[in-house]
Amino acid sequence: MELLIEDGHVYTDGEAVEADVGVRDGRIAEVGDVRDADRVLDASGCLVLPGMVNAHTHASMSLLRGYADDLPLDRWLEEHIWPIEAHLEPQDIRVGAELAAVEMIRTGTTAFADMYFGMDEVADAVDVSGLRASLGYGIITVGKDDDEAREELNEGVGFVREYDGAGDGRISTMLCPHAPYTCDEQTLREAARAARDEGVTLHTHLSETDGEVRDSVDSHAERPPAYLESLDFFDGDVYVAHGVHLDGDEIEMLANRGVGVAHCPSANMKLASGTAPVAEMLDAGMTVGIGTDGPASNNTLDMFKETRHTALVAKSREGDASVVPAREALDAATRGGAELLGTQSGVIAEGRPADIAVVDLDAPHLTPRHSLVSHAVYAANGGDVVHTVVDGEVLMEDGHVETVDAGRVTAEAEERARRLAERTEAEA
Ligand SMILES: [Zn+2]
Repeated sequence: MELLIEDGHVYTDGEAVEADVGVRDGRIAEVGDVRDADRVLDASGCLVLPGMVNAHTHASMSLLRGYADDLPLDRWLEEHIWPIEAHLEPQDIRVGAELAAVEMIRTGTTAFADMYFGMDEVADAVDVSGLRASLGYGIITVGKDDDEAREELNEGVGFVREYDGAGDGRISTMLCPHAPYTCDEQTLREAARAARDEGVTLHTHLSETDGEVRDSVDSHAERPPAYLESLDFFDGDVYVAHGVHLDGDEIEMLANRGVGVAHCPSANMKLASGTAPVAEMLDAGMTVGIGTDGPASNNTLDMFKETRHTALVAKSREGDASVVPAREALDAATRGGAELLGTQSGVIAEGRPADIAVVDLDAPHLTPRHSLVSHAVYAANGGDVVHTVVDGEVLMEDGHVETVDAGRVTAEAEERARRLAERTEAEA
């Protein structure tokens, strides 16, 4: 074996069992009693989980963390985020993605889906960090003429062609028209067709706010899901982010079309967008993953918090404490997200990619150990993660990130974020 994760409580098949995990050629070779390996990670007194999968984020927005808070989505975007984003330089996007990568590795996230611009910088940061990711250029055509709109789509397709399979196969790509309200009709239709032609996933924001639904009815005489359906948007491999304002018929239609959803409870609560009907989505058979959304609207990338919120928000919304139990939330954060990203990870089983997060249980808030699955969802946080492994490579051991110089990245991020804010305010 190349790697042995020794003596842990391993989450497999819905329960935590005492076992070692042996890794060979980047894949889980054995779950059981494993001996002899080139490298050993001590997992005694630890919970060994499949790595968390962040199914929807905008990693480089970590530089905007705390820049503007306590506003609804439209004012937050238009008055603060878009003006500062206009001043982002490629190196800012690079450092923002590196900062996000360090945070994800430290909090047990092993794979993420990202939609932004300057995505070649994000891809390079992913490559160096050792993380797994599905990446797409966020296509926006609002305020652009036909030629510029075509260039946006070309940028998205060009990125797909250049980066699919990069990072020793850890990087996959998607086509990402940003949202039905930021892209024109022709671009939405052509992006969907291009995703089918290129054989990649199509990903967009959908029905995030009540205002978005009302505007869609005003502009297209249809709610967002019906509008996209009329553009053959759901004919291929598609998943959407949010789905806060989906009704029962829309959930059924999306489930029948095999459309998945990245549920982002923290961002939805913070921007007061509402609470997504995640229990209904799961009941309808939709593939549900969990995302943090960008670190400027969350404001962390800690998937443990997001998993806890997934369970709690569902119970609160339905007035029923039995909906979305711990195991269901944990599976959405791992296996569900992995399915959306099109990776085989998200499960600890022989033959699967070795993407693993090890949680140290030696803490007052994780005592006593009646149920480790309960602890993973309701009591643990990202700071409890001690080892992170992706593709069989150790990205963090005992809290030390091995692939990226965390001190250099945080210092550079602080400095670049300060200069970025100064440039933006000088113009305002
Ligand atoms: Zn988003």
